[in-house]
Amino acid sequence: MFYQQQFDVIVVGGGHAGTEAALASARMGANTLLLTHNIETLGQMSCNPAIGGIGKGHLVKEIDALGGAMALATDQAGIQFRTLNSSKGPAVRATRAQADRALYRKAIRHMLERQTNLTLFQQSCDDLIVENDQVVGVITQMGLKFKAKSVVITVGTFLGGTIHIGLNNYKGGRAGDPPSIALADRLRALPFRVDRLKTGTPARLDARTLDFSVMQEQLGDTPIPVFSFLGKTSDHPRQVPCYITHTNERTHEIIRGGLDRSPMYTGVIEGIGPRYCPSIEDKIHRFSDKDSHQIFVEPEGLDSIEIYPNGISTSLPFDVQMDLVRSIKGFENAHIIRPGYAIEYDFFDPRDLKQSLETKFIAGLFFAGQINGTTGYEEAGAQGLIAGANAALMSQGKESFTLRRDEAYIGVLIDDLATMGTKEPYRMFTSRAEYRLLLREDNADIRLTSKGRDIGLVDDNRWQIFNKKLEAIELESQRLRSTWIHPHHAAVEELNKVLKNPVTKENTLEDLIRRPEMTYQRLMQIESLGPQIANEQAAEQVEIQIKYAGYIERQKDEIAKTLRNEDTMIPFDFDYSKISGLSNEVVVKLSHARPETIGKAGRISGVTPAAVSLLLVFLKKHG
Ligand code: FAD
Repeated sequence: MFYQQQFDVIVVGGGHAGTEAALASARMGANTLLLTHNIETLGQMSCNPAIGGIGKGHLVKEIDALGGAMALATDQAGIQFRTLNSSKGPAVRATRAQADRALYRKAIRHMLERQTNLTLFQQSCDDLIVENDQVVGVITQMGLKFKAKSVVITVGTFLGGTIHIGLNNYKGGRAGDPPSIALADRLRALPFRVDRLKTGTPARLDARTLDFSVMQEQLGDTPIPVFSFLGKTSDHPRQVPCYITHTNERTHEIIRGGLDRSPMYTGVIEGIGPRYCPSIEDKIHRFSDKDSHQIFVEPEGLDSIEIYPNGISTSLPFDVQMDLVRSIKGFENAHIIRPGYAIEYDFFDPRDLKQSLETKFIAGLFFAGQINGTTGYEEAGAQGLIAGANAALMSQGKESFTLRRDEAYIGVLIDDLATMGTKEPYRMFTSRAEYRLLLREDNADIRLTSKGRDIGLVDDNRWQIFNKKLEAIELESQRLRSTWIHPHHAAVEELNKVLKNPVTKENTLEDLIRRPEMTYQRLMQIESLGPQIANEQAAEQVEIQIKYAGYIERQKDEIAKTLRNEDTMIPFDFDYSKISGLSNEVVVKLSHARPETIGKAGRISGVTPAAVSLLLVFLKKHG
């Protein structure tokens, strides 16, 4: 039976990719259906209830700059906020929040239920309707058919999901949820390359059975950071501390003693796990010289007794989990509420996707999130937003929307996936971006909000707030550039107390901020020069734009140079060994990958900018 209404876009899966995809598509005016297993699990965090961190926080800010939900929901659900790397430069500063799992779900559901053009429906999607290599709809478990112009699949870890606890295993999408078997079979029958990955999660502990007094307390930052460019600290619920404890020699002995019943070490699990988020058994195996590993003891919510012990993800048998947990300081009497487990699932090679996240083989079919080999809510949300936007644009007969590597971490993420693929769960790091100084958390809105506005992702409220901020930055920057301080100015005495070299000639306020020992905030505390502008985000921009102007200009020049050479062709049979100065490793990598253009050569991992320059010079000389 066909459902009476036809949709522009259907999004399958209500996780982090699916909710951003559905909201983006509906915001852009496309008539959108979000079809998911269970309405109660919309926005559910399968693993750690935390959002952001280094590289990931950048993605969240970019999603927000494009009108997405993740940062707003985190502001409403975050129970501890921190700015990581706060003592380092602005490029690597990153926001991280511990979230109340239930409040996060509630915030996401609230946004979905209030979004115009969006219909929710609870059912499993079991099949796709494909005509002449074009997707035209989906079929649910009960045989109901929905028609649409484009379909976005965001089914996370559910495709052919197998859950492992010790040598026991069973089918599941994540603990407590069914797997997607029929859809996995359907997708496997299409011409995509498919493989298996795995991820894992720790046991959850009962807070009432832990001794927090012997653990190290960890408080959030003050003033409390916000995630969204529209966020206010007053949006946050009550803030709570986290704690730190450690594994010890005894813990490691228990783990080693259980490896003969570990699904990972006995070959039962074949999928590759996340290198940067390894299980505790993996850590002990790989870093055998370390006699202790840190555990962050994180509350799952304000009204929850559950504790997430971050750092001891495991798929060891339950009896080993019990022993290893109880060997840890403060956990001696711990009760496990939910056992830890690993899950293996299908993912599809993202090299079979276009940069718009549309699949190359089936027109109108988009993939986003964990299905593309990534791990993490933030990576999923970012892809979801782009896939949802492009599915909407396609249904409206418009050009696709993509972001370049020099414009956004989202651009880096999708370009990495679509050009290089991945062999292990892919997570974002700042080191993956070539132009870190430009792709900062703090300027994500300046980089992206007007692009989002152009395609209908950004609503009037966000647009007005953004424009007021731009105006405040511009006016204050002009004032700082045009206000001169001569050596007899009333502020000089106060200024000389801060400056290393006293003011002996005329300086603009901008010149003074450029001095390493001075900040905008400090300068504005001097009576005749301040006060600082009221918009704090604008004030931060004013300072960063002045302090880092030289570096930023240099990076922009580099981008212009790279863009000029991006499409320079490399002959297919080119002999890389002819270029003197290239390392053997780079020659092997390039000879193997045979990139068509200089742009593609530069994106092969291990091929350095210096190697690309040598290649370019050689091609120009001999080409
Ligand atoms: P999900 O959040 O999994 O959402 C998928 C959605 O699709 C669900 O709502 C599901 O019900 C729905 N669905 C599935 N099949 C169908 C169907 N056929 N029809 C309708 N609806 C369907 N990330 C990290 O960053 N670090 C970690 O250490 C980490 N560990 C993890 C451990 C475990 C055990 C699990 C399960 C996940 C872990 N994650 C971790 C990953 C994180 O949860 C995911 O990256 C993120 O949730 C992916 O988002 P997604 O939207 O792609 O999929």
